[in-house]
Amino acid sequence: MVASLKILHYKRLESTNTTAYRLALQSASEWTVVVADFQTKGRGRGRNKWESPKGGLWFSILLRPEVPTPKLPLLQFLAAVATRQALENETGLSVKLKWPNDLVLGHEKLGGILIESKTLGNTVSFAILGIGLNINQLKAQLPPGAISLRLVSGKQQDLRLLLRAILEQIISSYDDFNSSKIMEEWWRNCVHRPSRVQVTLPNHTVTGISRGVDKDGSLVIETDDRRIRKVNEGSLRILDD
Ligand code: ADP
Repeated sequence: MVASLKILHYKRLESTNTTAYRLALQSASEWTVVVADFQTKGRGRGRNKWESPKGGLWFSILLRPEVPTPKLPLLQFLAAVATRQALENETGLSVKLKWPNDLVLGHEKLGGILIESKTLGNTVSFAILGIGLNINQLKAQLPPGAISLRLVSGKQQDLRLLLRAILEQIISSYDDFNSSKIMEEWWRNCVHRPSRVQVTLPNHTVTGISRGVDKDGSLVIETDDRRIRKVNEGSLRILDD
């Protein structure tokens, strides 16, 4: 598939996802990409805030995937796998994945992915694939537990080149949207493969060994009483290595 990218570059936005969502409602074409030098109201999952100062890569891609709604969560994993690969190709650093939506270097958070979508029953009208990556920020510009490429490589990265490389990798992976290959590849690069983890859900926690990811993106955990539990939401903490 040949995607025609339309990259819209802004100096400052509240949130690239919000702008991309608005453009999608106004019938913007697939593969419109909204990039901002910095975001003033970057968002994470739920009510989480996403710190997005200058020096990082903050962008959102408008997609109109022709998949049934239940398949949509796979997009997050596809994007994570493609972004990870592009970053590793460009920098040689070993970027890993943490369930459900993080990219990590060591055990610190390098970036995250946030999908927002509009669906009509079983049909996806559009999806906004938001990607936030810490690239050239120094320690003082990062929240606790975060890391940037520059802090590890010691080198200032070219944001435009990195963005291009990531977009190209996402475009070439996009044909595999339906494939179980995505989840295999995701798990192969998972930082808690397998490790003792704790997942906090709205009303309880699940603790055990993370054993894999299901084809729908759920995390498979073997609990202490040897039962297999699947979780499809929550925040994960790695308890040991
Ligand atoms: P989770 O903490 O479960 O991964 P999210 O994926 O929603 O949640 O990410 C939001 C969280 O990430 C914030 O609550 C904050 O702790 C952290 N965070 C915010 N901005 C950044 C950033 N630029 N880099 C790394 N972590 C960040």
